[in-house]
Amino acid sequence: MSLKQKVLLYASLSLLLTLSLLALGTLTYLLLENKSRASRFYDRIVSAFVNTQSLIKEEEPLTRFLKTVDFINAVLETRSVLFLDKRFVPEELLEGKLVVSGYIVDPKGVSDTKLITALLEIELYGTLGPIYKPMAVARYPLGDDEKPYGFVYFIKPIKHDLTLIAFLLAYPLIAVGVASFPVYRLVGRLVREVNFIKTLSQDFSKNQFSRLELLRKNLRETKEKNDEVYELKLSILKMMEALEKLLLKTTKEKIHYETMALTDPLTNLYNRRVFLEVAEKELSRAKRVGSPFSILLLDIDDFKRINDTYGHDVGDVVLKRVSETLRRNVRKMDLVARWGGEEFIVMLPHTNLQNAYKVAEKLRRLVENLRVKLPGGEEINVSVSVGVSAFKGHKRLEDIIKEADLALYEAKRKGKNRVEVFRESLTLERPEGS
Ligand code: GH3
Ligand code: MG
Ligand code: MG
Repeated sequence: MSLKQKVLLYASLSLLLTLSLLALGTLTYLLLENKSRASRFYDRIVSAFVNTQSLIKEEEPLTRFLKTVDFINAVLETRSVLFLDKRFVPEELLEGKLVVSGYIVDPKGVSDTKLITALLEIELYGTLGPIYKPMAVARYPLGDDEKPYGFVYFIKPIKHDLTLIAFLLAYPLIAVGVASFPVYRLVGRLVREVNFIKTLSQDFSKNQFSRLELLRKNLRETKEKNDEVYELKLSILKMMEALEKLLLKTTKEKIHYETMALTDPLTNLYNRRVFLEVAEKELSRAKRVGSPFSILLLDIDDFKRINDTYGHDVGDVVLKRVSETLRRNVRKMDLVARWGGEEFIVMLPHTNLQNAYKVAEKLRRLVENLRVKLPGGEEINVSVSVGVSAFKGHKRLEDIIKEADLALYEAKRKGKNRVEVFRESLTLERPEGS
């Protein structure tokens, strides 16, 4: 059940409770008021009897009693029902009369038999009928304790002030409504805040921080700056900022380590593993589309001598300068990698043997013309030997590389600082493994 539904449920329950309490209150009020009205009605009947009977000049007591009843009915606008004990009425007069519980009934204008029976249950005064529309009933005796001839019931509807009851009901309802309004607004705000925080955390769980600025703006514009919701949002902001920082750091580290895994730290060239991976893909594409594909293998000449003469650091500088020269002078689609110590490999897609030779020769010349400055100011020259091989139906990449290696060996043999292209006779001249 959502927060809103819960609040609505609780609000409905409390309204229902209020309404039932109001109904109970109203009922109690009516009950007490009806009783007190009946009591007052009785008092009026008694005093009306006392005042009226002395005014009526009549010797015969029953006739005087009946005249008094008529008079009271006229003046107080009441109705009445006379009950005469059957034992005191001569037999011949009983015929055709209504008899209830041993009484002859004279219902002056009252025709409801049920009402007549109900009257007998009231001893002095009371009410009959529905609680909101009752009739006050008062009983007055005919005769005395020695001669209880009977009695008369006076009936008069009680008129309630309906506007009073309406106000009685409306005021608490209005009060409940007014008191609930701020609560309702607060809950509405809480629901909005919770939903806002929910969307934020959904974003964050997907590593999206785009709404962080929205949260900052929201916090700046919040008026209630010292309640729990504000504090919660503030701590979420701090948490997310820390997380974003951490994520950024991790990403940077990841890139760093990935680069480290792919490249050689001295020359910044791709390493042997990357080269093989990329070249395999490129070769299978060349096979698929039938485009040419060549490999160059380069080796710095007499590099050991450079190391020995000038030191290892100078050797490293030479390696860097040669690497740079190679990388800068090939096309974007070509790939230069460090194959081993002072050996480099170049992949030339879409390049046939003839063009590969040209590229090799260009690179050889560029290295030859390189002037490597030593810390002491002296400049030295280096050179490379290059072996070239092109794809011509080879099954495996390593076969092409092996051929380039044979060509490179041939270049060294022929005096270094030169380019040699693989030819089949080289396989015979230098058997595998040598
Ligand atoms: P060749 O002309 O026949 O290729 O002779 P070379 O001296 O170049 O070949 P050799 O294989 O005899 O020596 C290669 C040297 O390269 C040996 C090794 O110490 C050096 N070397 C390998 N890697 C590095 C490196 O990263 N830095 C430095 N300074 N030297 C390296
Ligand atoms: Mg070598
Ligand atoms: Mg060498």
